[in-house]
Amino acid sequence: MAQRRKLIVGNWKMHGSRAANAELLSALLAGRPYLGDLAVCVPAVYLHETAAALAGSDLRWGAQDVSEHAQGAYTGEVSAAMLAEAGCRYVIVGHSERRAYHAESDELVAAKAQAALAKGVTPIVCVGETLAQREAGETETVVKRQLSAVIHRLAHCAAEMVVAYEPVWAIGTGRTASPEQAQAVHAVLRAQLHAATGRGATMKILYGGSVKPDNAATLFAQADIDGGLIGGASLKASEFIAIARAA
Ligand code: PEP
Repeated sequence: MAQRRKLIVGNWKMHGSRAANAELLSALLAGRPYLGDLAVCVPAVYLHETAAALAGSDLRWGAQDVSEHAQGAYTGEVSAAMLAEAGCRYVIVGHSERRAYHAESDELVAAKAQAALAKGVTPIVCVGETLAQREAGETETVVKRQLSAVIHRLAHCAAEMVVAYEPVWAIGTGRTASPEQAQAVHAVLRAQLHAATGRGATMKILYGGSVKPDNAATLFAQADIDGGLIGGASLKASEFIAIARAA
């Protein structure tokens, strides 16, 4: 089996303040070393101070969205070049909150992933089904369709992305996919990635959806789960550190 280093990424969403961020980041730095890789995806306005706080450490940072355009008259948007300049290693694209509240299509998500990669920022591409889709037995079809759009767009660069499986019904709800449910979907995604790139065995597939210190270890022990995308628990240093240790 290929050895893949675990990756734990915090998604702060629209939370934080300069004071709270400074406290959280210094607690994360104090909690080192971590066995796997650790990153935080922060609101864009906090990227530069996050970069300053984490510079010289082995923690990475990233953004939560990126424009599909390189530059231009796109008020309110942030380009991949700007993220690269802010030292971002990662950017989340296609989070279910953006798909739901900003009507982001599979094609738009794919274009964003491509824009990020073009500037050397690794896209963390989120896929996941709603509760209604799961109950209708459509989970596999939905996640494969979402991933397929990105694979097609990225073509030979597809192996450079990180994928996050985030069942929509498990995000911020306290409901977690069981390790077996998550593993089953991860195995499907890995097979799809491998068929497309030939490098599926080395690609990272994260799980996200109400990961907490008490369920992290069993999720991360699954063969195809390479770490987590952590929302709520990434805002509390003690919980995020405990999850990172579980990896
Ligand atoms: C997320 O928003 O990516 C997420 C997984 O959130 P939570 O951990 O709070 O469910």
